[in-house]
Amino acid sequence: MNAIEVIGLKKSYGQVDAVRGIDLSIATGEIFALLGPNGAGKTTTVEILEGFRRRDSGDVRVLGFDPHNEGHAAREWRNRIGIVLQSTSDSGDLTVIETIEHFSAYYSNPRNVEEVINSVGLDEKAGSLIRKLSGGQRRRLDVALGIIGNPELLFLDEPTTGFDPEARRSFWALIEKLRGDGTTILLTTHYLDEAEALADRVGVINNGQILEISTPTELGGRSRAQALVSWRDGDEIKSEATDNPTSVVNRLTAQFNGEIPELTVTRPSLEDIYLAMIGMSHE
Ligand code: ATP
Repeated sequence: MNAIEVIGLKKSYGQVDAVRGIDLSIATGEIFALLGPNGAGKTTTVEILEGFRRRDSGDVRVLGFDPHNEGHAAREWRNRIGIVLQSTSDSGDLTVIETIEHFSAYYSNPRNVEEVINSVGLDEKAGSLIRKLSGGQRRRLDVALGIIGNPELLFLDEPTTGFDPEARRSFWALIEKLRGDGTTILLTTHYLDEAEALADRVGVINNGQILEISTPTELGGRSRAQALVSWRDGDEIKSEATDNPTSVVNRLTAQFNGEIPELTVTRPSLEDIYLAMIGMSHE
């Protein structure tokens, strides 16, 4: 069974068609990244899956459950999912450890509080008041609250916004650990390197519609895209786009009779491909 099944999802706010017919299947244990520009409909989609917003139409199953439903079954379902929202509520007068302990009591099978604090890198701040944390530290606390319940399925809406590069890398390591535990993860992010590092598949969404779902290496024909070979020739930097960079390099090796000055061989990054897709969809 897939962890998430979405067919024909639609949602409008008055005149704004925020989500215009989305189909999406996410396998159990998969890490899926939803990418798209501001206002594309990512948060609307994710919050419908989380049961925080009502859809207008379409079929949605999350861990086999329709998030529309309420009552006892909904509470049991909520126990199985973890959520890190884009904006967070404030509980400024509690410490980090008090806040996490408080949240852990809502779950039937929570993780160990100290372990969670350690895994988000907040050991030194465990006794600090929330309102004294920096923006990035607060975001780490949000992530801690998302995983304290030991969820089968974790929603992360722009989890690393405000993280410094080191914190982002340790967050990635944490996600890898959760992957190892079999946690299914749906994340939205504006960091394409993050999607590339973490996601099994990415979905690009624009104007409320999915443009493509693929692996990060194959999105938009990326794996077939030409390579760019560049090198220094006297005062000039030269470059050549090619399907066969090895033969270009061989030719240059012969030409320079050895070391090719300032040689690089690059392929389009996920960000290049993504920007081209979004740009094209506006034309
Ligand atoms: P971002 O990357 O900026 O977080 P997003 O992809 O998450 O963007 P959404 O927040 O889902 O985008 O917004 C999609 C569209 O719906 C936007 O045009 C937005 O202005 C509109 N919208 C979102 N929430 C509401 C709301 N509560 N009321 C009215 N319009 C809304």
